[in-house]
Amino acid sequence: MIEEVQRQYLQAMGVEVWQRRDLPAGVPSSLPSVAIVESAVQSGLPPRKEALQKLSVSDSAVQLVNDLTTMDWNALRSAVSHCERCSLHTTRTQTVFGVGDQQARLMIVGEAPGGDEDRQGEPFVGRAGQLLNEMLQAIGFKREQVYIANILKCRPPNNRDPQAEEVGCCEPYLQRQIALVQPAVILAVGRIAAQNLLKTDQRMGALRGQEHRYPGSDIPLIVTYHPAYLLRSPLEKRKAWEDLQRTRALTKSELKDHASD
Ligand code: URA
Repeated sequence: MIEEVQRQYLQAMGVEVWQRRDLPAGVPSSLPSVAIVESAVQSGLPPRKEALQKLSVSDSAVQLVNDLTTMDWNALRSAVSHCERCSLHTTRTQTVFGVGDQQARLMIVGEAPGGDEDRQGEPFVGRAGQLLNEMLQAIGFKREQVYIANILKCRPPNNRDPQAEEVGCCEPYLQRQIALVQPAVILAVGRIAAQNLLKTDQRMGALRGQEHRYPGSDIPLIVTYHPAYLLRSPLEKRKAWEDLQRTRALTKSELKDHASD
């Protein structure tokens, strides 16, 4: 059921929640059934630790991955802050590591820092970040309750798309962050995050609306629009709301799953 406060955040997001008169309050008819999503997930996910041991590693970064596998948060943060593996270190103001609850159930992965993030050293602090906060609050999460990171830790000049070589250099850091957080669910925001996490060139239309798995693991991964895109295309917020509902259902059903392990 959608609480009043969530309804207010949805309004802030610009999403109007329609309600059929014959449905209980807060169950818009166009939403995917939470029950269907939950029962799909109850198909027996293995324990997350096992799943995480199977995380995929790109060949170009084997050495770094070997170094990273034992790193704790402090060592990892320090490694990122000194990183000069690709040319983006020459144009950054600072690295943008990640922020939030290091034991979060929900992990958000975006594309790369923009100008605001490069200046402040924290992901999603600009206008897109404000909308992301509202999206999270709409499904009952405060920003501090999730973990937020990006595919790239450094800003690409003029906010251009990340290049494959940059992603290859940077992805071991994100892989280690995911291994440390052990999230129950990953939400990929935007095409770049989704394609790089899932190692696919499929378009958003094909990636949205499905429950993926983070490669080499059993962590459910949902794809939604990037908040910057939603600021430009507010009509798509309705679809983003569906993705968020699915995400919320998964964080809940994963909780049940692990309680019975
Ligand atoms: N867009 C992203 O993908 N990440 C950020 O941190 C900021 C904007």
